[in-house]
Amino acid sequence: MKNHRYLFQEHIAHTTLSPLGFEVSKAAGSYLYDKNGKAYLDLIGGISVCNIGHSHPNVVKAIQEQAASYLHVMVYGEVIQGPQSEYAGALAKTLPSSLQNIYFTNSGSEGIEGAMKLAKKYTGRTEIIACNHSYHGSTQGAMSIFGDEKWRSAYAPLLPDINFMDFNNEEHFNQITERTACVIIEPVQAEAGIQIPKQGYLEALRQRCSEVGALLVFDENQTGFGRTGSLWALDKFKVTPDILVLGKALGGGTPMGAFISSKEIMQSIASNPILGHMTTFGGHPLCCAAGNAALGVILDEKLLDGVEEKGAYFKKQLGAYLKNDIEIRQIGLMLAIELPSIDEVLTIIKKVLEHPEKPLFIDWFLFADNCIRLVPPLNITKEEIDWASELIALNINDL
Ligand code: PLP
Repeated sequence: MKNHRYLFQEHIAHTTLSPLGFEVSKAAGSYLYDKNGKAYLDLIGGISVCNIGHSHPNVVKAIQEQAASYLHVMVYGEVIQGPQSEYAGALAKTLPSSLQNIYFTNSGSEGIEGAMKLAKKYTGRTEIIACNHSYHGSTQGAMSIFGDEKWRSAYAPLLPDINFMDFNNEEHFNQITERTACVIIEPVQAEAGIQIPKQGYLEALRQRCSEVGALLVFDENQTGFGRTGSLWALDKFKVTPDILVLGKALGGGTPMGAFISSKEIMQSIASNPILGHMTTFGGHPLCCAAGNAALGVILDEKLLDGVEEKGAYFKKQLGAYLKNDIEIRQIGLMLAIELPSIDEVLTIIKKVLEHPEKPLFIDWFLFADNCIRLVPPLNITKEEIDWASELIALNINDL
């Protein structure tokens, strides 16, 4: 038997000094299993990736069938690959008429890189505006729009001509001018601890961008695929960006990202010079087959129908069990429970993970480490929500 823990400690590069180190042996539906077969209700789903739960049979079947046909055949964009074209077509059917042209990448960060380059090339401008407390990925372009000075300065110099505004603050819109290539924003700021846009904020942002000819980019890595209760947050808030970036749940549990725009905008990376964005593996047939199967599950099993109700129920149950008044932010099945500091959050994470009968997998947020993150699979049951809320709340009451 291989000692996975030893190999993990010695040979896997770590980016924190205290990795969680949970050893998973299997994942299925809403549960992770440890090596003794103990089941843990997974309320984070690989950080908003496993929106239909783990290893859905339709996704596994699609991967197996595609693996039996072909794997990698050619770099992106040259050869017609059925699974890629079919997935692009399926996504296009769900998107507005101005977002019909899809460039598949390997990750969300790479989708952001593509969006930043596309906006610069199309507008001929260089300035990019993002929000404080936003996270868009960890490559150097994406890190340039990382909404926290501490991380940016550790890797400086990054891209020039990047500016930041506060989310939900229309007074900062005067920063968006004829110099601005694009504004990149998460419709709901996830890593900031679920910050929900104020009524009218995204519409006003759309209007300001249109007035000055800046492109509006929505990063729906975390909000996409039903997380907010609509398939896309752009549907929920009725605001259409010029470029949409996807990732996370896009690959149905396999690595994928995408930037999506109109054919007219997208054409600007196809000439002068040609090949404005290249990838060997982006839009890999296995990932496209898996992603398309996962999207099919969301639509065929009508998973969107229950999301807002279940999210509201989760919030209500937590509130009912909590003895003190604690802020809970919720939209669809994205929830943040605000505690005084990271110390309390880490205590709760450990306590619910170590529960002898019904352990839970929960997490914190990058820019809000005093908040507990809950982003369960969209097909979580009300019964699971019941016992999970009770367990979390009772542990908070005991602090
Ligand atoms: N954008 C958002 C909103 C994210 O949450 C993330 C990852 O957490 C990314 C982009 C980057 O995606 P990836 O880790 O696939 O590069």
